[in-house]
Amino acid sequence: MRLILLGPPGAGKGTQAQRLVTRYGIVQLSTGDMLRAAVAAGTPVGLQAKAVMESGGLVSDEIVVGIIRDRIAEPDAAKGFILDGFPRTVKQAEALDTMLAEQKLKLDAVIELKVDQNALVGRIIKRADEAKAAGQPVRKDDDPDVFKTRLEAYNRDTAAVTPFYAAKGQLTVIDGMQPIEAVAAAMDKVLGG
Ligand code: AMP
Repeated sequence: MRLILLGPPGAGKGTQAQRLVTRYGIVQLSTGDMLRAAVAAGTPVGLQAKAVMESGGLVSDEIVVGIIRDRIAEPDAAKGFILDGFPRTVKQAEALDTMLAEQKLKLDAVIELKVDQNALVGRIIKRADEAKAAGQPVRKDDDPDVFKTRLEAYNRDTAAVTPFYAAKGQLTVIDGMQPIEAVAAAMDKVLGG
């Protein structure tokens, strides 16, 4: 199974993706996680991405498309994958289409978690508080001001990705403001599980 989860930062993509990993035995490919790992490891990609990420902006299409191209080719992705945080621009979506066509692969679903953006800042403050309480590091870009910049980047660059898939008849929209379990149930329905 190959699917894409779309929606603004804080919409719950990561939470839902983790559950689908267990349920369907597929891998979660989060460009955000991969970039954070690259930053932590101090790789050339990480060094390039660090400042952009900390400011809430978007890393270049070339970098993230390269990361996804390499990752999709790894053996554990052969059974299927969930793309979380990618594509974030129409250019990335087009590059993904080309990549999949070259490998004769098809997407099973593109799901948008639709949320009330006004409620997101509250959610993100909660995510930071929960990480703190659990003794985990708080993401620098979960600072409320940086989060607002991330939302702006979403509305400027990523909001166009959903119409891209809608025009191809591939998009399913789920209300992401429901409780986590209800969102999960709606996703299972779409995925036929
Ligand atoms: P996320 O964990 O998905 O919210 O991503 C954290 C940060 O990584 C974003 O704010 C961007 O700076 C960067 N990033 C992650 N995925 C992408 C992408 N597909 N395109 C560009 N930048 C990305």
